[in-house]
Amino acid sequence: KVKSGLAQMAKGGIVMDVVNAEQAKIAEAAGACAVMALERVPADIRKQGGVARMSDPKMIKEIMAAVTIPVMAKARIGHFAEAQILQEIGVDMIDESEVLTPADYTHHINKHPFKIPFVCGARNLGEALRRIDEGAAMIRTKGEAGTGDVAEAVRHARQINSEIKRAQSMDATELYAYAKELQVSHQLLKKTAELGRLPVVNFAAGGLATPADVSLLMQLGVDGVFVGSGIFKSGNPTKRAHAMAQAVTYYDKPAKVAELSEDLGEAMSGQPVTDETRIFSYK
Ligand code: PLP
Repeated sequence: KVKSGLAQMAKGGIVMDVVNAEQAKIAEAAGACAVMALERVPADIRKQGGVARMSDPKMIKEIMAAVTIPVMAKARIGHFAEAQILQEIGVDMIDESEVLTPADYTHHINKHPFKIPFVCGARNLGEALRRIDEGAAMIRTKGEAGTGDVAEAVRHARQINSEIKRAQSMDATELYAYAKELQVSHQLLKKTAELGRLPVVNFAAGGLATPADVSLLMQLGVDGVFVGSGIFKSGNPTKRAHAMAQAVTYYDKPAKVAELSEDLGEAMSGQPVTDETRIFSYK
Protein backbone atom coordinates (compact mmCIF):
# COMPACT_ATOMS: atom_id res chain seq x y z
CA LYS A 1 0.00 0.00 0.00
CA VAL A 2 1.11 3.53 -0.68
CA LYS A 3 2.63 5.27 2.34
CA SER A 4 1.76 8.78 1.29
CA GLY A 5 1.22 10.57 4.64
CA LEU A 6 4.31 12.78 4.69
CA ALA A 7 4.24 13.23 0.92
CA GLN A 8 0.65 14.47 1.10
CA MET A 9 1.63 16.80 3.93
CA ALA A 10 4.49 18.17 1.87
CA LYS A 11 2.14 18.99 -1.03
CA GLY A 12 2.45 22.65 -1.96
CA GLY A 13 5.80 22.75 -0.22
CA ILE A 14 9.50 23.22 -0.80
CA VAL A 15 12.22 20.83 0.38
CA MET A 16 15.64 22.42 0.80
CA ASP A 17 19.05 20.68 0.77
CA VAL A 18 21.11 21.51 3.85
CA VAL A 19 24.56 20.35 4.95
CA ASN A 20 24.51 21.47 8.61
CA ALA A 21 22.27 22.54 11.49
CA GLU A 22 22.73 26.24 10.76
CA GLN A 23 21.46 25.88 7.18
CA ALA A 24 18.61 23.66 8.41
CA LYS A 25 17.48 26.45 10.74
CA ILE A 26 17.58 28.98 7.89
CA ALA A 27 15.49 26.60 5.76
CA GLU A 28 12.94 26.07 8.53
CA ALA A 29 12.64 29.81 9.21
CA ALA A 30 12.16 30.45 5.47
CA GLY A 31 9.18 28.11 5.37
CA ALA A 32 10.60 24.84 4.03
CA CYS A 33 8.19 21.92 4.49
CA ALA A 34 11.19 19.61 5.03
CA VAL A 35 14.96 19.60 4.73
CA MET A 36 17.19 17.12 2.92
CA ALA A 37 20.25 16.40 5.09
CA LEU A 38 23.35 15.72 3.05
CA GLU A 39 27.12 16.18 3.27
CA ARG A 40 27.63 17.83 -0.09
CA VAL A 41 25.07 19.66 -2.20
CA PRO A 42 24.90 18.36 -5.80
CA ALA A 43 26.97 21.29 -7.13
CA ASP A 44 29.87 20.14 -4.93
CA ILE A 45 29.41 16.45 -5.76
CA ARG A 46 29.56 17.49 -9.41
CA LYS A 47 32.71 19.58 -8.88
CA GLN A 48 34.58 17.29 -6.50
CA GLY A 49 33.64 13.97 -8.08
CA GLY A 50 34.43 10.68 -6.33
CA VAL A 51 31.89 8.18 -5.04
CA ALA A 52 28.96 9.93 -3.38
CA ARG A 53 27.43 7.89 -0.54
CA MET A 54 24.84 8.21 2.22
CA SER A 55 25.79 10.96 4.71
CA ASP A 56 27.29 10.38 8.15
CA PRO A 57 24.39 9.45 10.49
CA LYS A 58 25.88 11.79 13.14
CA MET A 59 25.52 14.77 10.81
CA ILE A 60 21.96 13.75 9.93
CA LYS A 61 21.09 13.44 13.64
CA GLU A 62 22.49 16.92 14.31
CA ILE A 63 20.19 18.30 11.64
CA MET A 64 17.25 16.33 13.07
CA ALA A 65 17.96 17.87 16.47
CA ALA A 66 18.12 21.39 15.04
CA VAL A 67 14.67 21.58 13.41
CA THR A 68 11.06 20.58 14.02
CA ILE A 69 10.17 20.05 10.34
CA PRO A 70 10.63 16.60 8.71
CA VAL A 71 14.17 15.59 7.75
CA MET A 72 14.86 13.57 4.62
CA ALA A 73 18.15 11.90 3.69
CA LYS A 74 19.54 10.22 0.60
CA ALA A 75 20.44 6.58 -0.01
CA ARG A 76 22.15 5.34 -3.16
CA ILE A 77 19.98 3.74 -5.83
CA GLY A 78 19.60 0.06 -4.94
CA HIS A 79 21.46 0.41 -1.62
CA PHE A 80 18.89 -1.07 0.72
CA ALA A 81 21.41 -1.30 3.56
CA GLU A 82 21.90 2.48 3.53
CA ALA A 83 18.10 2.80 3.53
CA GLN A 84 17.87 0.46 6.55
CA ILE A 85 20.34 2.68 8.42
CA LEU A 86 18.39 5.83 7.59
CA GLN A 87 15.17 4.19 8.75
CA GLU A 88 16.90 3.07 11.95
CA ILE A 89 18.14 6.55 12.90
CA GLY A 90 14.63 7.92 12.43
CA VAL A 91 14.69 10.19 9.37
CA ASP A 92 11.22 10.99 8.03
CA MET A 93 11.70 10.08 4.38
CA ILE A 94 14.40 8.48 2.23
CA ASP A 95 15.35 9.86 -1.17
CA GLU A 96 16.64 6.98 -3.30
CA SER A 97 18.73 9.36 -5.31
CA GLU A 98 20.67 9.40 -8.56
CA VAL A 99 22.60 12.35 -7.11
CA LEU A 100 24.58 9.75 -5.17
CA THR A 101 26.58 7.14 -7.04
CA PRO A 102 24.24 4.23 -7.90
CA ALA A 103 24.95 1.06 -5.91
CA ASP A 104 22.94 -1.23 -8.19
CA TYR A 105 22.37 -0.55 -11.88
CA THR A 106 19.69 -3.22 -12.25
CA HIS A 107 17.64 -3.17 -9.08
CA HIS A 108 16.17 -0.21 -7.29
CA ILE A 109 15.36 -0.72 -3.60
CA ASN A 110 12.25 -2.79 -2.93
CA LYS A 111 10.61 -0.11 -0.85
CA HIS A 112 7.59 -2.13 0.30
CA PRO A 113 9.18 -3.82 3.34
CA PHE A 114 10.20 -0.42 4.79
CA LYS A 115 8.05 1.47 7.28
CA ILE A 116 9.51 4.78 6.15
CA PRO A 117 8.28 6.49 2.93
CA PHE A 118 10.55 6.95 -0.08
CA VAL A 119 10.82 9.58 -2.79
CA CYS A 120 12.44 8.63 -6.11
CA GLY A 121 13.52 10.54 -9.20
CA ALA A 122 12.00 10.03 -12.66
CA ARG A 123 12.61 11.40 -16.14
CA ASN A 124 9.48 9.97 -17.69
CA LEU A 125 6.22 8.19 -16.91
CA GLY A 126 7.75 4.71 -17.20
CA GLU A 127 10.37 5.44 -14.55
CA ALA A 128 7.84 7.14 -12.30
CA LEU A 129 5.39 4.22 -12.40
CA ARG A 130 8.13 1.61 -11.94
CA ARG A 131 9.28 3.46 -8.80
CA ILE A 132 5.69 3.68 -7.50
CA ASP A 133 5.25 -0.04 -8.18
CA GLU A 134 8.39 -0.64 -6.06
CA GLY A 135 6.76 1.29 -3.21
CA ALA A 136 7.75 4.96 -3.67
CA ALA A 137 5.33 7.32 -1.88
CA MET A 138 6.48 10.35 -3.83
CA ILE A 139 8.13 11.14 -7.17
CA ARG A 140 10.35 14.03 -8.19
CA THR A 141 11.71 14.94 -11.58
CA LYS A 142 15.41 14.14 -11.83
CA GLY A 143 16.27 17.35 -13.61
CA GLU A 144 20.02 17.90 -13.56
CA ALA A 145 21.00 18.60 -9.97
CA GLY A 146 23.78 21.04 -9.16
CA THR A 147 23.70 22.90 -12.46
CA GLY A 148 21.32 25.77 -11.80
CA ASP A 149 19.94 24.94 -15.26
CA VAL A 150 16.21 24.30 -15.06
CA ALA A 151 15.86 22.86 -18.57
CA GLU A 152 16.11 19.17 -17.60
CA ALA A 153 13.50 19.52 -14.83
CA VAL A 154 11.24 21.19 -17.39
CA ARG A 155 11.92 18.40 -19.90
CA HIS A 156 11.05 15.70 -17.35
CA ALA A 157 7.90 17.44 -16.08
CA ARG A 158 6.67 17.97 -19.65
CA GLN A 159 7.56 14.41 -20.62
CA ILE A 160 5.51 12.96 -17.76
CA ASN A 161 2.58 15.28 -18.57
CA SER A 162 2.56 14.39 -22.25
CA GLU A 163 2.78 10.65 -21.59
CA ILE A 164 -0.15 10.88 -19.16
CA LYS A 165 -2.17 12.79 -21.80
CA ARG A 166 -1.28 10.14 -24.35
CA ALA A 167 -2.47 7.38 -22.02
CA GLN A 168 -5.72 9.30 -21.43
CA SER A 169 -6.42 9.40 -25.17
CA MET A 170 -6.18 5.60 -25.49
CA ASP A 171 -8.89 2.97 -25.48
CA ALA A 172 -8.59 -0.13 -23.28
CA THR A 173 -6.82 -2.20 -25.95
CA GLU A 174 -4.25 0.49 -26.67
CA LEU A 175 -3.54 0.95 -22.98
CA TYR A 176 -2.35 -2.67 -22.65
CA ALA A 177 0.18 -2.10 -25.42
CA TYR A 178 1.28 1.23 -23.95
CA ALA A 179 1.86 -0.41 -20.55
CA LYS A 180 4.07 -2.96 -22.30
CA GLU A 181 5.94 -0.22 -24.16
CA LEU A 182 6.54 1.75 -20.95
CA GLN A 183 7.40 -1.44 -19.03
CA VAL A 184 4.89 -0.63 -16.31
CA SER A 185 1.96 -2.38 -14.69
CA HIS A 186 -1.20 -1.99 -16.74
CA GLN A 187 -3.22 -1.42 -13.57
CA LEU A 188 -1.02 1.48 -12.46
CA LEU A 189 -1.06 3.06 -15.93
CA LYS A 190 -4.84 2.75 -16.09
CA LYS A 191 -5.19 4.40 -12.69
CA THR A 192 -2.85 7.21 -13.77
CA ALA A 193 -4.86 7.80 -16.94
CA GLU A 194 -8.09 7.92 -14.93
CA LEU A 195 -6.62 10.38 -12.44
CA GLY A 196 -4.96 12.47 -15.15
CA ARG A 197 -1.89 12.71 -12.94
CA LEU A 198 0.59 10.52 -11.09
CA PRO A 199 -1.11 8.59 -8.30
CA VAL A 200 1.38 10.03 -5.76
CA VAL A 201 2.67 13.55 -5.02
CA ASN A 202 5.10 14.76 -7.70
CA PHE A 203 7.69 17.47 -7.05
CA ALA A 204 10.09 19.19 -9.43
CA ALA A 205 13.81 18.95 -8.73
CA GLY A 206 17.17 19.42 -10.36
CA GLY A 207 18.37 22.86 -11.38
CA LEU A 208 15.78 25.22 -9.88
CA ALA A 209 17.57 28.40 -8.83
CA THR A 210 15.09 31.33 -8.86
CA PRO A 211 11.51 32.13 -7.77
CA ALA A 212 10.67 32.24 -11.49
CA ASP A 213 11.99 28.67 -11.91
CA VAL A 214 9.67 27.62 -9.08
CA SER A 215 6.73 29.38 -10.73
CA LEU A 216 7.51 27.76 -14.10
CA LEU A 217 7.52 24.23 -12.75
CA MET A 218 4.47 24.77 -10.53
CA GLN A 219 2.60 26.07 -13.58
CA LEU A 220 3.60 22.87 -15.39
CA GLY A 221 1.60 21.06 -12.74
CA VAL A 222 4.01 19.74 -10.10
CA ASP A 223 2.86 19.64 -6.48
CA GLY A 224 5.95 21.27 -4.98
CA VAL A 225 9.70 21.60 -5.44
CA PHE A 226 13.08 20.45 -4.17
CA VAL A 227 15.86 23.01 -4.20
CA GLY A 228 19.39 21.78 -3.76
CA SER A 229 22.35 23.94 -4.61
CA GLY A 230 20.16 26.85 -5.72
CA ILE A 231 19.78 28.33 -2.25
CA PHE A 232 22.98 27.76 -0.29
CA LYS A 233 25.21 28.27 -3.35
CA SER A 234 23.67 31.70 -3.96
CA GLY A 235 24.81 35.12 -2.76
CA ASN A 236 22.11 35.56 -0.09
CA PRO A 237 20.73 32.17 1.03
CA THR A 238 18.43 33.52 3.74
CA LYS A 239 16.66 35.93 1.42
CA ARG A 240 16.55 33.49 -1.51
CA ALA A 241 15.24 30.64 0.67
CA HIS A 242 12.35 32.83 1.78
CA ALA A 243 11.63 34.04 -1.76
CA MET A 244 11.68 30.49 -3.20
CA ALA A 245 9.33 29.27 -0.45
CA GLN A 246 6.93 32.14 -1.11
CA ALA A 247 7.07 31.43 -4.85
CA VAL A 248 5.66 27.93 -4.26
CA THR A 249 2.56 29.54 -2.76
CA TYR A 250 2.23 32.49 -5.16
CA TYR A 251 3.49 30.75 -8.31
CA ASP A 252 0.47 31.84 -10.36
CA LYS A 253 0.66 35.51 -9.30
CA PRO A 254 3.31 37.11 -11.55
CA ALA A 255 3.15 40.43 -9.66
CA LYS A 256 4.05 38.63 -6.45
CA VAL A 257 6.76 36.52 -8.13
CA ALA A 258 8.19 39.75 -9.58
CA GLU A 259 8.38 41.22 -6.10
CA LEU A 260 9.98 38.04 -4.74
CA SER A 261 12.58 38.10 -7.54
CA GLU A 262 13.86 41.58 -6.62
CA ASP A 263 17.26 42.19 -5.10
CA LEU A 264 18.07 38.57 -4.25
CA GLY A 265 21.79 38.99 -4.82
CA GLU A 266 23.64 36.57 -7.06
CA ALA A 267 21.96 33.34 -8.12
CA MET A 268 24.21 30.26 -8.08
CA SER A 269 26.58 30.61 -11.02
CA GLY A 270 25.54 27.32 -12.59
CA GLN A 271 26.49 25.37 -15.65
CA PRO A 272 24.26 24.86 -18.71
CA VAL A 273 23.43 21.20 -19.32
CA THR A 274 24.72 19.57 -22.50
CA ASP A 275 25.15 15.90 -23.45
CA GLU A 276 28.74 16.23 -22.18
CA THR A 277 27.89 17.80 -18.81
CA ARG A 278 24.77 15.76 -18.03
CA ILE A 279 25.70 13.32 -15.28
CA PHE A 280 22.92 12.83 -12.75
CA SER A 281 19.95 12.27 -15.04
CA TYR A 282 21.76 10.11 -17.62
CA LYS A 283 21.35 10.37 -21.38
N1 PLP B 1 18.32 5.94 -12.99
C1 PLP B 1 19.49 5.39 -12.62
C2 PLP B 1 20.52 6.26 -11.98
C3 PLP B 1 19.73 4.03 -12.87
O1 PLP B 1 20.90 3.48 -12.52
C4 PLP B 1 18.73 3.25 -13.51
C5 PLP B 1 18.93 1.83 -13.79
O2 PLP B 1 19.90 1.46 -14.39
C6 PLP B 1 17.54 3.87 -13.90
C7 PLP B 1 17.38 5.20 -13.59
C8 PLP B 1 16.44 3.21 -14.63
O3 PLP B 1 15.73 2.31 -13.86
P1 PLP B 1 14.41 1.64 -14.46
O4 PLP B 1 14.63 1.39 -15.89
O5 PLP B 1 14.19 0.42 -13.64
O6 PLP B 1 13.31 2.62 -14.26
